[in-house]
Amino acid sequence: MGAAMEAGDVFALGLGLRAPWKLAGQRLDIEKRPHELHLDVVAGRGALFPCSECGRTCKAHDFADFTWQHLNFFQHHCFITARVPRVDCPDHGVRRAAVPWARPGSRFTLLFEQAALVLVREMPVLAAARFIGITDQRLWRIVAHYVGRAVAALDLRSVRAVGLDETASKRGHNYVTVFIDMDRRDKPVIFVTAGKGKACVAAFRAFLLSHGGEPTRVAEVVCDMSPAFLAALGESFPQAAVTVDWFHVVQLFTTAVDDVRKAEARQRKLPNAARWAVLKAGDRNLTNDQRIALAELETGGFATAAAWLAKEMLRWIRKADSAQAARWRITRFINHIGLGLDPGPLLEPVRKALRTFAAQLKRILQRWTSTHSNARLEGLNGIFQAARARARGYRNIATYITIIYLLAAPLPDIFKST
Ligand SMILES: [Zn+2]
Repeated sequence: MGAAMEAGDVFALGLGLRAPWKLAGQRLDIEKRPHELHLDVVAGRGALFPCSECGRTCKAHDFADFTWQHLNFFQHHCFITARVPRVDCPDHGVRRAAVPWARPGSRFTLLFEQAALVLVREMPVLAAARFIGITDQRLWRIVAHYVGRAVAALDLRSVRAVGLDETASKRGHNYVTVFIDMDRRDKPVIFVTAGKGKACVAAFRAFLLSHGGEPTRVAEVVCDMSPAFLAALGESFPQAAVTVDWFHVVQLFTTAVDDVRKAEARQRKLPNAARWAVLKAGDRNLTNDQRIALAELETGGFATAAAWLAKEMLRWIRKADSAQAARWRITRFINHIGLGLDPGPLLEPVRKALRTFAAQLKRILQRWTSTHSNARLEGLNGIFQAARARARGYRNIATYITIIYLLAAPLPDIFKST
């Protein structure tokens, strides 16, 4: 003790080597570019080895050489080679022994895989694969393994309020539906599934049940106004109060304004800055051009201006400080906007939005009695964007789902090695 550590000890520590394994030798292969550092690991004679299934220590049956890629040692690629026995387990028969530095079946060390996961949290998968010098397919397999294992272990016993929203991995394609725990401020995602609509709600119910959750104890669900979701929620979560979140109400009318503007622009010339002027929320962040465009829209009798006013009234409704006050404001809104609209076809998108709004009134008003912040679902948009950036270049929907979990699900044990 007390002597300077040898290089071999440093490597052994980094690998988590423990008896019967020890480092036998190392060599630098300078024929290869980049250079390769090879570490040879051996087990002592007559050693016993754990069964990879149950961990029981068993005698060696026969041996074979295996190589794992390890973390780069400075600029050198690093590989570990070991003669690994098959053991003859009384319960599981003859199978390859487990080694402490890698999980069964992987060609990478645990440290390598954990470093890869850290990178994938920070940069696109393609860039991470290049950075560590493996193919992106192999990197995806590593990520999918750890994320899948952590998701399987999610504990959903305490879930009482759920929010759900849908998104596409590409514009208009590959929909996924994401469920969040409304009581979790950080990493709220608890379930992600391909598709949108009824089947997704049933899939979530099954997932909740298989992770300790109890559907009848879910007291609130926050979602958008999709009729398919709403019908499915009534079936799968009959006890839950359904709240349509305000974000989707605003979205409903924003889309209507944009549809009116596009249709009107085909008929007459709109002021130059009209597009962004009517899409922005409120008038605080408008540029001068946009301010002028709004004024021109309002004085010029444009249908787009009428649509925009309807959307702007939503902010006045939102500021109501009780469900009663909100109901009063909403009645004024429906009467004022609904009756005042020009009956022509240009404003049909706004009338349609108003009909949806009126049909969902009870669920929209629920937000004034709900104890859950409506900002949660809106925050999901940032997560969806980040996941799209990480998964850029991949059309496979499974990769998109994996990344959403990695970035936004509570996966505390993702970096545990076994
Ligand atoms: Zn066994």
